[in-house]
Amino acid sequence: MTNIVLFGPPGAGKGTQADILKKKYELVHISTGDVFRYNIKNETELGKTAKSYIDKGQLVPDEVTINMLNAEVDKHPEAKGIIFDGFPRTEAQAGALDKLLENKNDAVNAMIALEVEDEVLVKRLLERGKTSGRADDADEGVIRNRIKVYYDETAILKNYYKKQDKYFGVDGVGSIDEITQRLSQVIDQL
Ligand code: ADP
Repeated sequence: MTNIVLFGPPGAGKGTQADILKKKYELVHISTGDVFRYNIKNETELGKTAKSYIDKGQLVPDEVTINMLNAEVDKHPEAKGIIFDGFPRTEAQAGALDKLLENKNDAVNAMIALEVEDEVLVKRLLERGKTSGRADDADEGVIRNRIKVYYDETAILKNYYKKQDKYFGVDGVGSIDEITQRLSQVIDQL
């Protein structure tokens, strides 16, 4: 299997690129943000819990997120590979993902990070907020908190995958096509 962790700060373009790459490489795309939003919309227990954190720009607790991710992966036993978008975001989540894949005699092949500077991110997210209906995109304070949480809690995962020689950084500024090409260059070498 080809299992890819698509990484980068909020607004880096992970969702856009994952949508293209899943078709190109016939992979399953699991976005933890999308699954949370689906649950919020349908007012499930999981959705209610998640909403209280997401609205503040905080991470949903690891236990909740890990259980959800395990259930999502189990829905796709036939997958040729998975693009993980928005997961892992903490070291505990990275460890849980390793275990989950190990149980299937599998592993993460690569973490590919989209690199974009903060001020560009804030602009993109405020722009997205005008049409996405996402409460966490509408408020600059919440956006800046998400970026801060990324640097405080999530960015360390770069080292986690670097140690295993699985980290690849890609410039996330350019046209959608250009960025797909940069990502594809990495995936084609795996
Ligand atoms: P972004 O566009 O900021 O990258 P996502 O759409 O991936 O965000 O997720 C939206 C929100 O859902 C996050 O700000 C966070 O509160 C929550 N979330 C998503 N994935 C995770 C995760 N792996 N662990 C904890 N919380 C998460």
